[in-house]
Amino acid sequence: MNLLDVPGSGPSSPVCSAKGCRADAVWVLAWNNPKLHTPERRKTWLACEEHREHLSEFLGVRGFLKDVVKLTEWRAPGEDRA
Ligand SMILES: [Zn+2]
Repeated sequence: MNLLDVPGSGPSSPVCSAKGCRADAVWVLAWNNPKLHTPERRKTWLACEEHREHLSEFLGVRGFLKDVVKLTEWRAPGEDRA
């Protein structure tokens, strides 16, 4: 199931990750699936105001959601700085 897809190198203005939504992203949802990722790893979804709750809940019920941060305040924690 490919419900959501965050392109690695998208356009400069990031859009909401919700399926079919083209609104500008305002929020970053940081999540981790312990079955797939090491604990420090963070995957991110982007959300507009409208979809923040929906996406948070989607991740939250699975126990994946770690953090919800304003896009303007988001700094990827383990980002490579090689
Ligand atoms: Zn949206």
